[in-house]
Amino acid sequence: MEKKQKDISTRILNQRFPKKDVHGSISMPVYSSAAFEFDTAQEMEDAFLGKSGKHTYSRISNPTVEAFEMRIQQVSGANQVLAVSSGMAAISNVFMTIAYAGSNIVTSTHLFGNTFSLFLFTLKAFGVEVRFCNLLDIEDVAKNIDDKTCAVFTEIITNPHMEVADLRGLAETAHRRNVPLVVDSTIVPWPNFQAQKFGVDLEVVSSTKYISGGATSIGGLIVDYQDFDWSHSPRLGFLAKAVGKNAFTVKLRGEISRNLGAYMAPQTAHLQNLGLETVALRFQRSSGTCKELAQFLQTLPEVKEVKYNGLPDDPFYKISFEQFGEYPGAMLTFSLKDQAACYNFIDHLNVIRRATNLFDNKSLIIHPLSTIYGTLSEEYKKMVEVPADMLRLSVGLEDIEDLKDDILQALRY
Ligand SMILES: *Cc1c(COP(=O)(O)O)cnc(C)c1O
Repeated sequence: MEKKQKDISTRILNQRFPKKDVHGSISMPVYSSAAFEFDTAQEMEDAFLGKSGKHTYSRISNPTVEAFEMRIQQVSGANQVLAVSSGMAAISNVFMTIAYAGSNIVTSTHLFGNTFSLFLFTLKAFGVEVRFCNLLDIEDVAKNIDDKTCAVFTEIITNPHMEVADLRGLAETAHRRNVPLVVDSTIVPWPNFQAQKFGVDLEVVSSTKYISGGATSIGGLIVDYQDFDWSHSPRLGFLAKAVGKNAFTVKLRGEISRNLGAYMAPQTAHLQNLGLETVALRFQRSSGTCKELAQFLQTLPEVKEVKYNGLPDDPFYKISFEQFGEYPGAMLTFSLKDQAACYNFIDHLNVIRRATNLFDNKSLIIHPLSTIYGTLSEEYKKMVEVPADMLRLSVGLEDIEDLKDDILQALRY
């Protein structure tokens, strides 16, 4: 009889530590130690050459972080996972591994603010070009890819535009030119989105969001599905001859992550490991509430427009359903009369908190244009196309009736 695959929460909770704990501790202890000691010079040599799997120094690896990485491997189904100090560290480590002077990244202007800034300003100084195109138009993507393209990059749901690209279509288009598809899947966590099913090669996640378990800490993850053939990459091709599809992770772990020094701290891994244990449960509650709130907001005359991909009348409903199921995350956006109406609404909320971040246990509101995109010049503000009358709501674990009441009283204050 074929063995049934266990439920994802069961699998997370059942995942044992990579190495047996001397005390039989049921929670992974926090190994808050910079370095690890050896009995002999030979053992030390073996550890430094990666022959024994032993830890040497916590900028490179750490037992607590390793336990967290192994659980992420378990939920994602990936071959290799690296935990780093933030979502931005995940994205920058990926591009420091695959980009090179003269290469280009094919993406769109509809990106998280710091990712936009990383591509447009930071990487530009190293001779990496960013090509903004319409990722919803596969022809346009194909036209922008050339021999120097190091990746096609997209967020699985663009924040705060709430657009959903066809990931299979993007993957096929990229792969035809031997280019990897890299996605930021922060908005819909495992177990609700399985990137590998859609041909994604590398996945980056801000684990600050759902996984941290209520905004406890900043963290990021790089997930390598190892389906991509790097032999055509000017940067990784040589390595691919020696280690095959492991080339990306070998370069990342062996060189880039060590040199940039943004490995995850053990204290963070401890908090995020706890968060991971309840992620499926919290996602179910917050995304369910989010969908209901989206429907509720649609009925209010003060609200001009609501965007949530789980609404049947949303333009991305079909592709979103295919990729993320019935509940595409716990974030929605909605528009009021103008920016002043948005500010007035924000100022009168009592339950929903005025803060950035996503997927805290508390519901959070923000006016994206004046905050996340606030320091951009007028020219770049136009490029990112974030409207002035729009608010972003991240839905937490509060009771839905209390959230509705809070929204109504602030709207009609
Ligand atoms: C928050 C966020 C990031 C950045 O993550 P940090 O952990 O804050 O560095 C990247 N992408 C998306 C979609 C995000 O929401």
